[in-house]
Amino acid sequence: MTADLRSLYEEVILDHNRHPRNFQHVPPGASHVAHGYNPLCGDEFTVKLRLDNGVVTDIGFEGAGCAISTASASLMTESVKGKTVEEARALFDSVHEMLTGKSDTGPLGKLQVLAGVREYPARVKCATLAWHTLQAALEKEQRTVSTE
Ligand code: ZN
Repeated sequence: MTADLRSLYEEVILDHNRHPRNFQHVPPGASHVAHGYNPLCGDEFTVKLRLDNGVVTDIGFEGAGCAISTASASLMTESVKGKTVEEARALFDSVHEMLTGKSDTGPLGKLQVLAGVREYPARVKCATLAWHTLQAALEKEQRTVSTE
């Protein structure tokens, strides 16, 4: 990793850890929910999202985790909001391949900084947690979520 990418990585992770986007946000009328847990580190998040006509119109997450898992969850919610289910799944695939070393680059924009996690193999599961939770949420509709 170049010095530039490393400092960008640290900057983005720190920023999203200090100010997580969509954190403790419960989308009104949330239709899909999943719980994710990474026992290696103790990271634990719940992702709730609302799908309207196959588009993720709102998403939020709750829970607690280390800086990398929190930042990754924040970046994930920011990235998939406004995307179709197919686009969100494609994004999951790109991020997963990048984090597990199968691909160096993807059309990922800001998410590219997550590639920095590969320098810390023990933390890869922290970075993928929110994405696996998103995947689970997209697959399992919960029809009885109350907004109250
Ligand atoms: Zn962690």
